[in-house]
Amino acid sequence: MAKVKNVQLGREMEYPYEGARPERQIAYVFDTNKCIACQTCSVACKTTWTSGKGQEQVFYNNVETKPYGFYPQQWDVKLLNLLGGGSWQGERYEGKTIFEAAEGSERAQGYLPEQAEYASPNLGEDVVAGSVEKGAFFQGIHQVWQFYLARICNHCTYPGCLAACPRKAIYKRPEDGIVLVDQSRCRGYRECVKACPYKKVFYNMVTRVSEKCIGCFPLIEKGEQPQCVKTCIGKIRLQGFLSRPGEERADNPLDYLVRIRKVALPLYPQYGTEPNVYYIPPVHVPRDFLGQMFGPGVEEAISTYRSAATDQQLLAALLLFGNTSRILHGFRADKTEAVGFDAEQKEVVRVPYTEPFFKRDFFDQKRKVYRLNVT
Ligand code: SF4
Ligand code: SF4
Repeated sequence: MAKVKNVQLGREMEYPYEGARPERQIAYVFDTNKCIACQTCSVACKTTWTSGKGQEQVFYNNVETKPYGFYPQQWDVKLLNLLGGGSWQGERYEGKTIFEAAEGSERAQGYLPEQAEYASPNLGEDVVAGSVEKGAFFQGIHQVWQFYLARICNHCTYPGCLAACPRKAIYKRPEDGIVLVDQSRCRGYRECVKACPYKKVFYNMVTRVSEKCIGCFPLIEKGEQPQCVKTCIGKIRLQGFLSRPGEERADNPLDYLVRIRKVALPLYPQYGTEPNVYYIPPVHVPRDFLGQMFGPGVEEAISTYRSAATDQQLLAALLLFGNTSRILHGFRADKTEAVGFDAEQKEVVRVPYTEPFFKRDFFDQKRKVYRLNVT
C-alpha cells in the first residue's frame, strides 16, 4: 500500500493507490440545524436518477434521524464495531482506518448488507434518544434529542469503493473529484458495496452492475448546483469546490467554512476516506455522540456557528445556502448584503442580512378588508 496524507486525520495513512488530489474537489456543506426531514432532496434525486427497474430501494440521497435511523440498517454502528476503538490525540487520529484494518487480500475493511437492510429507509424516523418521564412538560429546554442527517456519496478523496474494485471500474475525475462507476467495466462483484463505509454504492439486481450518486455532473459542468442542493426546502446545503490543502482562498465559501473557520466537519473521518460532505453539527446534541460522529472539532465548530450573529463574514457565507442555483466560486460580505459570484466572477446572488419587513394597516381603506400581520 502507498502512504498518503489524510488531512482529516492529521497524519499519513495507507491507501492502495498513490494519492492524486484533483485540481479542485467537489464538496458540500450541510447545516444539520436547519434540516426538517421533508425528504424533498431524496425525492428530487430519486425522480432524476433512480426511477428505473432494480432501483426501487435505491436512494443516492437519504435523510435519516439520528441516533436510531439508518439506511441501510445499522450501517455506521456495524462498521464502528468492526473497526474497534480509536482515539483522537488533538487533531491526530490514533486508530485504524478501513484501509489499515483490511485483512488478507482485502483492500478495505467492510461488510456487505443484506438486501432486506435497505427495505425500510424510514425505520427509526423521529425516534428520540432518551425517555420522557410521566408528567413531564416542555420547559424550554429539550429533555430528549434527535437530529436529521442528510446523506449522499461523499466523493471521497480516498474512496473505499475505488480502492476495493478488482476491475478498476471506479474512477475519480481529475477536474473535480467526482467519483463515478464505469458500468461497462463493472462485473457486479459488489466489492465496492462492501468497502464503501457510508454504503453509498448500490448493486442493481436487474442490471447486475453497481451504481452510485454521480454528483449530478451534467449540472456541475454547466455551473449549476446538484438537484438535492437546489431543491432543499430547509436551505441547509451549499455545494462548491474545495481548493487543495494549503491553497485555500478566504473568498471561496467552501474553503472559508470548512478549512478556514472549521464550522463544518466530515462524517466519521476515522474511516479514513477523507469524505467531502461537511456537516455543521447540531447544537443541541450530547457532545460525546457528536465527537464520535464528526471528530474532535465539534465544540469549536458549534461555538463558531453560534458567533455568526455578530460575525458578518461568517453570516454572509451561511446566508448563501439555498439562495441560488449557480455554483458559487466567490463571496463577499457587503454592508447590508451577502454577495455571491460564479466562476467568471459575475455576481449571481445578493441576500440581505436582515429580511425586509413590511407592516400593513390593520384596515385596508382601499379594499375595505382587515389585514393581519404575522411577525
Ligand atoms: S462515499 Fe462511498 S461511494 Fe462515495 S466515494 Fe466515498 S467510498 Fe465511494
Ligand atoms: S430537502 Fe433539505 S430540509 Fe428537506 S430533508 Fe432534504 S436536506 Fe433536509
